[in-house]
Amino acid sequence: MEKRQQLYEGKAKKVFATDDPDYLIVEYKDDATAFNGVKRGMIRGKGAINNRMSNRLMQKLEAAGIPTHFVRELSDRETLVKSVEIIPLEVIVRNTSAGSFSQRYGVAEGIDFESPTVELSYKNDALGDPLINTDSAAALKLASRTEIALIRQYALRIDRELRRFWRICGVKLVDFKLEFGRLPDGEIILADEISPDTCRLWDAATGEKLDKDRFRRDLGGVEDAYREILRRMESHDA
Ligand code: UDP
Repeated sequence: MEKRQQLYEGKAKKVFATDDPDYLIVEYKDDATAFNGVKRGMIRGKGAINNRMSNRLMQKLEAAGIPTHFVRELSDRETLVKSVEIIPLEVIVRNTSAGSFSQRYGVAEGIDFESPTVELSYKNDALGDPLINTDSAAALKLASRTEIALIRQYALRIDRELRRFWRICGVKLVDFKLEFGRLPDGEIILADEISPDTCRLWDAATGEKLDKDRFRRDLGGVEDAYREILRRMESHDA
C-alpha cells in the first residue's frame, strides 16, 4: 500500500491517504496535549509506544470478536487502518472514579464501581466535548439509536477484555475513551487508539499512575511511565 497525501493532522496523530480509498495510514506523533489543547508538550517516544500498544490491544479485541479498524503495523509509528466515517461521540467507560467524573460529582478519585459506567460526549472541540445522552445524540443525528446501543455493548465488552488483560500485567484499568467509526456498508467498528493517552492505568499494587495524567498533572516521569506500561504489556503477552 502506497502512502499518499496527508489528509488530517490531529493532536497526537497524522492521517494519510493511500492508493486504496478503503484504507488510511495513521502516523503517531510524540506531541501531547491536555485540557482541550490548552496544555501542550512532547512525550519522547510516545508515538512509537502508542502505535505498538494500540495495535496489540486491537488485535486482542479482534480475537475476542470485536471489529476494529486495525489492518497492519507498517513501521514503529505507522499503521494501516480501514477508512471509516468517525462517529462524533467519545465513549468513556469507567470502572473507578477519577478525572472529570470525580470533579463533576464531587467524589474522591479511586472509588471502585460495582459495575462500569458508559458516558457519551459529543466530540466537538469548540464546545469542549459536552456530555450527551442517547436521545440528544440521536436528535442531532450523530448516530442512530441502534448504532448507539451497539456501541454501548461493544464498549462494555471491550472493558471486560481490557480489564482482564491489564490485570495480568499488574495494572488497574480505571477508565478509558473509545471512538467508533462506520464502514461504507454501515458496519460499526472500533477506531482511533487505545493507549496511555486514552486510558487511566494505575499500578495494581501501589496505585502509581502509568498514563497521561503524569503529563496533565505535571507529576514527572512521563516517558518512564509510558515505557513501563509497554514493557509490562509485552512481558505478559502470552
Ligand atoms: N479521555 C481521552 N480524550 C478526551 C477525554 C478523555 O482520551 O478527550 C480519556 C482520559 O484519558 C481518561 C478517560 O477518557 O482515561 C476519562 O477522562 P475524563 O472524562 O475523566 O476527563 P479528564 O479528566 O481526562 O479531562
